[in-house]
Amino acid sequence: MRKQIKIIGSGFSSLAAACYLAQQGHEVTVYEKNDTIGGRARQLKKDGFVFDIGPTWYWMPDVFERFFADFGKKPADYYDLIKLSPAYQVYFGINEFVTISDNLPEIIRTFEGIERGSGGQLAHFMKEAQSNYNIAIKDLVYRPGVSPLELVTVETAMKVNQFFGNISKDIRRKFKNTKLVQILEFPVLFLGAKPSDTPSFYSFMNYADFGLGTWHPKNGMYSVILAIEKLALELGVTIKTKSNIEKIIVEQGAATALIVNGERINGDIILSGADYHHSESLLDKTYRAYSEKYWEKSTFAPSSLLFYVGFDKKIEKVAHHTLFFDVDFDVHAEAIYDDPKWPDEPLFYASFPSKTDRNVAPEGKEAGIFLIPLAPGLDDIPELREEYFEKIITRFEKLTEQDVRNSIIFKESFCVNDFINDYNSYKGNAYGLANTLLQTAFLRPKLKSKKVKNLFFTGQLTVPGPGVPPALISGKLVSELIQKNL
Ligand SMILES: Cc1cc2nc3c(=O)[nH]c(=O)nc-3n(C[C@H](O)[C@H](O)[C@H](O)COP(=O)(O)OP(=O)(O)OC[C@H]3O[C@@H](n4cnc5c(N)ncnc54)[C@H](O)[C@@H]3O)c2cc1C
Repeated sequence: MRKQIKIIGSGFSSLAAACYLAQQGHEVTVYEKNDTIGGRARQLKKDGFVFDIGPTWYWMPDVFERFFADFGKKPADYYDLIKLSPAYQVYFGINEFVTISDNLPEIIRTFEGIERGSGGQLAHFMKEAQSNYNIAIKDLVYRPGVSPLELVTVETAMKVNQFFGNISKDIRRKFKNTKLVQILEFPVLFLGAKPSDTPSFYSFMNYADFGLGTWHPKNGMYSVILAIEKLALELGVTIKTKSNIEKIIVEQGAATALIVNGERINGDIILSGADYHHSESLLDKTYRAYSEKYWEKSTFAPSSLLFYVGFDKKIEKVAHHTLFFDVDFDVHAEAIYDDPKWPDEPLFYASFPSKTDRNVAPEGKEAGIFLIPLAPGLDDIPELREEYFEKIITRFEKLTEQDVRNSIIFKESFCVNDFINDYNSYKGNAYGLANTLLQTAFLRPKLKSKKVKNLFFTGQLTVPGPGVPPALISGKLVSELIQKNL
């Protein structure tokens, strides 16, 4: 039966869910508090420069293909994809970097050139990583996290030890060179936890990296948001921006309405893609399934300090994606996870999308995005943002042996307070709830409210977890659960 479904937020997960629910024949309306859609994947345009405010790495192209295929479409119907070559570059010292190519045989040769015997080890490691990818991303992540039995399959039973070992140990057993170790530990950082707290099974992220490659949607990641918006509109979804949800109304144990900008809007089903903690704060206390203590004790993925910089010239000796791993990762990780504080010497990431895409910066200029991962909940004051920009730009100039400071036309920043103000993010987290062993699948906050009928959740704090591909999958899972519960 056709239901009126009201969705909070317009991030990837909400938009994906909206498409599936409209396809099932429901009347779907999306309410977004901000004046543009996309959530953490919004876009900043300034003086001819275009920046993705959030995600910049397009990984797991098969997940995007599978999403569009569910609607008889393909990504190419909506946006152009470029495979990055090289995929990325990693700096370890002054003019000292490793370039990761766009194909595995070449990456194996690069490894062998750095540590004898590591090429063969990598080939072996990648076989296992690919097998894990086939189990995890093609199957397990498409299960709704309702029961632990979902994870029990013939394939996982054979790999049970990989759920109890951690990927950091696994990598260090096989590779001795610290550069190679850091490169192999990098992909699981997307899951939001330390590699030493991430199960070995998650090596599927290494297959996503070296096996499937790094892609760039023309005009940036926001093209994918616009694509899904177009699909949603084609399916009959209504999208309303500047629509702040102030309350979820519960009557006789069921969610029946939203208060949107002070006005009551009725619905048969309420689905929230806003951060889970915030979504539950829109309910009266008795209807919340997770206590403040629960959220306090959970492992959150990092927040970030970001800079969006317009440069008056082309920047040399960097790739589209460049990582700066020239300082001790363990010390920075401690400042994120164990003893939350501003790190003394942070690792950072820089992206120059205008290296690939002429549409994102004026001719002869460069668009630069800089990201420092930080613990959620840190004090965020303008002086600290400045201090850290100085730190990383000084290191950047030294490591790449060039002056860039004097070519800055403008810079904008985004940090903990912006995540809270713009997205109602818990403690200003950037990537949601980390995917540790104890926060995986059925152990994550549930897609369906445990206390309120007709109330559902989606997004990076629930199943399957952080990242754009998981957000698309989350939208699919919740729409299937809603349909099943009607
Ligand atoms: C800096 C950064 C870099 C990242 N890099 C990558 C990357 O390279 N690759 C990758 O795959 N992933 C990356 N991610 C993760 C990825 O962007 C997210 O996992 C994904 O976009 C989350 O989508 P979502 O739908 O769960 O949540 P969100 O995008 O946060 O959507 C929630 C929406 O709800 C809205 N909302 C909140 N409260 C209300 C309310 N009361 N009323 C109405 N609306 C409300 C918010 O405004 C927001 O639009 C990155 C994230 C960040 C922040």
